[in-house]
Amino acid sequence: MIIVLRPDATEKDVEHIVEKIKSWGLTPMISKGVERTIIGVIGEEDILRVQPLEAFPGVEKVMPVLAPYKLVSREFKSENTIIDIKGICIGGKRIVVMAGPCAVESYEQLRAAAEAIKKAGAQVLRGGAFKPRTSPYSFQGLGEEGLKYLRQVADEFGMAVVTELMDPRDLVLVEKYTDIIQIGARNMQNFALLKEVGQSRKPVLLKRGMSATIKEFLMAAEYILSSGNFQVMLCERGVRTFETETRFTFDLNAVPIIKQKSHLPVIVDPSHATGKYSLVPAVARAAVAAGADGLLIEVHPNPEEALSDGEQSLLPDKFAKLMQELKSIARAVGRDL
Ligand code: PEP
Ligand code: MN
Repeated sequence: MIIVLRPDATEKDVEHIVEKIKSWGLTPMISKGVERTIIGVIGEEDILRVQPLEAFPGVEKVMPVLAPYKLVSREFKSENTIIDIKGICIGGKRIVVMAGPCAVESYEQLRAAAEAIKKAGAQVLRGGAFKPRTSPYSFQGLGEEGLKYLRQVADEFGMAVVTELMDPRDLVLVEKYTDIIQIGARNMQNFALLKEVGQSRKPVLLKRGMSATIKEFLMAAEYILSSGNFQVMLCERGVRTFETETRFTFDLNAVPIIKQKSHLPVIVDPSHATGKYSLVPAVARAAVAAGADGLLIEVHPNPEEALSDGEQSLLPDKFAKLMQELKSIARAVGRDL
């Protein structure tokens, strides 16, 4: 159920409604928009049906949210969510590019990647310090050492950091170094982890599970929002299909569908979606044309020597060329880059 307040509702009106909702054993979630405040109510909705909520001062209307994902839905919040990370706004007019190596391998590797991507116009540095590898014998990431390099290099170039969290026990450590917490495809339905990052104050980049439907994806995001963290971006990174030509199958439909159904920013990862560096530019261009709010692209100074995902990593010069192409596409669809 959502309670839409009148534009002239006061703080006191909001407080009064919130207190009442709590007294009925329900949880109020407040969303302050530009024009009006909306209060989402989580819990047994039947309790609300017998309350004369529309008689409360400041209330304009009370309506049920039909979507199973309540807080994530456009019904709950019609305007786009914009996530502001030290002045980098994700979900606004400017498309935000996050780039960097799959894994942080060394200070030198990360610095070389960061220098190149910053010069090309990327605003966020990506890199895994904890890597979800299929084989336990593959490189697992540098752990805290990798996180330190990320922070140090990003600060040197004036960028924000996005890095993956796999284990709730590492949350405090990862929060210390990163600006955005990435939840990987393999953990999209790790509900304990989702609830944990829901209590963090750091924005979350939630990747779509490789076999997850859009509804399951949005329900996973609902776990984070309903735990109190509204700063969530949704990342389409390809799904599993019968196709073997590419690593995953990029679901372009996901971009406009999620934009219709949710107010949260949509990010596209063309690197994992294709698994081949030669396909990354075309998919990135399509994503921008389709309305994505950002891109997550793997860039490595020497992909031949990469410890993970070298075959899908762009060389810095190819990344710089792509950034130029994306600028004109962004302009054509009324965005900046
Ligand atoms: C990654 O971004 O490096 C990654 C492991 O992605 P995904 O979870 O989408 O496979
Ligand atoms: Mn990768």
